[in-house]
Amino acid sequence: MTPPPDEMAPASRLDTVTATGSMPAKTVHVRSWGCQMNVYDSQRMVDLLAPLGYRPVDEAEGADIVILNTCHIREKATEKLFSELGRLKTTKQEKAESGGNMILAVAGCVAQAEGPVITARAKHVDIVVGPQSYHSLPELVARASRAKGEPILMTDFPVESKFDHLPEESVPRGVAAFLTIQEGCDKFCSFCVVPYTRGAEYSRPPEDILVEAKRLAQSGVRELTLLGQNVNAYHGEAAGGAVWSLGRLIGAVGDITGIERIRYMTSHPNDMDDELIAAHAQVPELMPFLHLPVQSGSDRILARMNRKHTAAEYLSAIARVRAARPDIALSSDFIVGFPGETEADFQATLDLVNAVGFAQAYSFKYSPRPGTPASSAADAVPEAVKSERLARLQDAILDGQTKFNQACVGQVMPILLDRAGSRPGQLHGRSPYMQSVHVAAPTHLLGAIVPVRIEDARALSLQGSLAAEPCGMVA
Ligand code: SAM
Ligand code: SF4
Repeated sequence: MTPPPDEMAPASRLDTVTATGSMPAKTVHVRSWGCQMNVYDSQRMVDLLAPLGYRPVDEAEGADIVILNTCHIREKATEKLFSELGRLKTTKQEKAESGGNMILAVAGCVAQAEGPVITARAKHVDIVVGPQSYHSLPELVARASRAKGEPILMTDFPVESKFDHLPEESVPRGVAAFLTIQEGCDKFCSFCVVPYTRGAEYSRPPEDILVEAKRLAQSGVRELTLLGQNVNAYHGEAAGGAVWSLGRLIGAVGDITGIERIRYMTSHPNDMDDELIAAHAQVPELMPFLHLPVQSGSDRILARMNRKHTAAEYLSAIARVRAARPDIALSSDFIVGFPGETEADFQATLDLVNAVGFAQAYSFKYSPRPGTPASSAADAVPEAVKSERLARLQDAILDGQTKFNQACVGQVMPILLDRAGSRPGQLHGRSPYMQSVHVAAPTHLLGAIVPVRIEDARALSLQGSLAAEPCGMVA
């Protein structure tokens, strides 16, 4: 799953769950850091608290519950958590001075990994809850309301799946929504905390996913992104015992009335099986976009990362997908400055970037994570070298991205208009290739998929206008 973008090119994903719906008395504010899976979890936390009368609000100030849903992928997220907790100490005091009580909860992967550190360093935190236990929030909130002062720590990996306890959506998701189908990871890349914070790989049963997808479609969702830390390792067991692959699941989601676009992330190169690749050729709803992290172009570094694939195997997976869907837009994740990375190793990464021609990519400086095998390596790369390599890598990525975007100028593409634009008279939309597109269009078209002629391209976005003719690039 793609982590927060401190060092990466595309826009920030520091999201808040926004306020909509009816107006009961109590309020909850959820702030979400990190990947799309955290955004999904944050929405589900709001759903869990809705039956207790809590409605979501955009500001922490005055809220009855504040939840910080954290990410532990790299150091900065932990620092951000503690600085946010410092700010919220005042907010909590102000609420108490006005006769109220603000329950402060820390959720997500930092909660899982550093629960006792959080309660020791920030004594005003009431609840610490891990990503596999947040379905207990209603009970934890009730306990915190009774036992003021004593922090509650819930970071177990319960035997039962939290998904069995999640209610229906309490607020509409808009036209584009996330749906988590798989969690956890058994791959143990030597740099990554996910197997420790999210636990072992788990796939939801296909029937449960289809019920949720149909509900989302009925509420107006047209684009669905299926999520998992290793989404293409999905192997959900159906009621009759058959095990579904991601390719099969995508076909079934594509059959749901109202779902017009499907995406999935994040994938591992070793799990690009034939059924999934065939789906790219056969399921018209599956968008021509694939986020496939490679991390490095050097086989020596890939081996030290315990990635279990070489650069050539990665390129071969890409060639197979391109054979099925020649116009596919590719995206990836890169880590620079992994321990022992030489200039030659880094050059191999640049060579891979230039060979593939990514439509976008995320790049990070290696950040040692406590408890991971790579964190104890003796041959760390100096910070200055990491920064210098990151800048060169991002130049190469932006170069490829700009070329990809410029090749779209003059094309007519189907654009899903998903929100208001930054300028008056403009709407924001997404192309099939995940590009941000700014379109001069009236607001009544929000939520529609419309043909747009692309007139201008920058590194990070496209500009276009409504077209009378049908789309030329994607059916
Ligand atoms: N499962 C995906 C895969 O196989 O690559 C990625 C999941 S991971 C949560 C998201 C991305 O964060 C990774 O692809 C990697 O680029 C980055 N990342 C993970 N651990 C990191 C670390 N210790 N330092 C820097 N970046 C890291
Ligand atoms: Fe982390 Fe590797 Fe698992 Fe991806 S495959 S979540 S990078 S351990």
